[in-house]
Amino acid sequence: MARLSDRVQTFTDSVIRRMTRISDEYGAINLSQGFPDFDPPIELMDALAKAAYAGPHQYSITYGAKNFRDALAVKQGKRIGRKIDPETEIVVTCGGTEAMMCAMMTICNPGDKVLVFSPFYENYGADAILSGADPVYIPLAPPAYEFDRVRLEEGFKQGAKAIIVCNPSNPCGKVFTREELTFIGNLAAKYDAFVVTDEVYEHMVYEPYEHICMASLPGMFERTITCNSLSKTYSITRWRLGYMIGPSEVIEGARKVHDFLTVGAAAPLQEAAAVGLSFPDSYYDNLRQLYTDKRNYFLAGLDRIGLKHNVPQGSYFVMVDIQEFLDRPEFAGMSDLQFCEWMIREIGVAAVPGSSFFREPINNLIRLHFAREKATLDEALRRLERLNSYVK
Ligand code: GLN
Repeated sequence: MARLSDRVQTFTDSVIRRMTRISDEYGAINLSQGFPDFDPPIELMDALAKAAYAGPHQYSITYGAKNFRDALAVKQGKRIGRKIDPETEIVVTCGGTEAMMCAMMTICNPGDKVLVFSPFYENYGADAILSGADPVYIPLAPPAYEFDRVRLEEGFKQGAKAIIVCNPSNPCGKVFTREELTFIGNLAAKYDAFVVTDEVYEHMVYEPYEHICMASLPGMFERTITCNSLSKTYSITRWRLGYMIGPSEVIEGARKVHDFLTVGAAAPLQEAAAVGLSFPDSYYDNLRQLYTDKRNYFLAGLDRIGLKHNVPQGSYFVMVDIQEFLDRPEFAGMSDLQFCEWMIREIGVAAVPGSSFFREPINNLIRLHFAREKATLDEALRRLERLNSYVK
């Protein structure tokens, strides 16, 4: 057989999504790939039922239905603190995943350097390879997940074309402060680089932390490509609705990339989801409260069991330290991936190995998420408690 491209030899399938498949195979409780096990708001489901009969079912504007972009411009314009032009500054994509890929393909030439904080959401590695970019990793060192400012500037000095900022961060739950974002933004301006943000967890931020859009900082709209998604905010991860917001010259290029990658996101789903984009602020307050309660409940459960973990400032992920297990003879020589596979089989709970997020050789962390009904979290905690029998 003729050879496949070199690029497909250089990355694996997504470990996050692989863990879901293994979890399903063993009937484990899946706390690996982050998605809720509860329904979207009833208004969206009703609107979807209506769209099934009323349409649209055929191609619409490739870069997003007009009513969807209009609603998005109003909602995100408030967050960015600027009027967003739905005609020139938005592209609707197939999920945040396409938005990120599209952003990278729009701004990167082969060999361009892109700064990526590590740990990072695993898609960025593949996005870089597929767009020909060369990632330069900047550690966000655990347990505080802070970055070294000198090292960051060194990265920019290497001629970085862009920096990717996931805020709130998947997997470590870091919420960047205004001061940190200003520091990053000033460097991007000084070295004339783009900032590509991934803000899909913008509404899952825990007090006293606040989510700040990079594009809302003075002068930053012009160099920021905001990537986002409706998946988490409206519990519709399978609808695959995402978007990019940015200055019109960037969006003009991005629309071409998007057009030839996917043509467009599903029209009936845009029609139904537009209803959510017009929800009042109370919807987002309630969502934040819902996830605050879940976070507190799940972390309290982990504490009761005695598992060491970070306290996420945002997102619905928590990093659990498994070093005490790896130190035991039963687990000697195990990688974090092998530990996760063992945990699915023997404990019945699926997690993602931390090594799929870190560039550094970190092998002692696993990621769990808590976007689950209380009864599911209870059962997961009950099962995780059995881990204790291995360290006594
Ligand atoms: N963001 C989710 C996670 O990290 C996964 C998203 C996806 O699989 N497309 O678990």
